[in-house]
Amino acid sequence: MSTSECIFCRIAAGEVPTTIVHENYHTIAFRDLHPKAPVHILIIPKKHIASIDAVTEDDRGVMGALFTAARDIARTEGVAESGYRVVMNTGKAAGQTVGHAHLHLMAGRDFAWPPG
Ligand code: 5GP
Ligand code: ZN
Repeated sequence: MSTSECIFCRIAAGEVPTTIVHENYHTIAFRDLHPKAPVHILIIPKKHIASIDAVTEDDRGVMGALFTAARDIARTEGVAESGYRVVMNTGKAAGQTVGHAHLHLMAGRDFAWPPG
């Protein structure tokens, strides 16, 4: 898929009006269009990486940056103490619907384990 066809690349490029809640060198974060929790934020690499299965050794810094962004966003959103869930669905069976890797950060309610 070319980046011009990828909705998350288009968001990262500023081509789609989106409220950005956090940004660092490698990542950008915005609220999910269809939130499944009171706080539901997607954190994406600015670089197009299709999924964890497409990650290379060169992407280790980028992938790490997703987690430091999650830490910072959770603090900003005031959920670091109460707790939050981060999820990266990978592939069809796991429910990945957008082919640009993204970390879901969800909080503000109790979550079941294991997830459905
Ligand atoms: P997945 O199912 O791939 O793990 O998660 C994709 C997520 O992206 C879904 O929660 C969906 O609501 C969200 N999403 C899809 N398209 C858009 C969009 O254009 N803008 C925003 N903010 N979220 C989107
Ligand atoms: Zn993309």
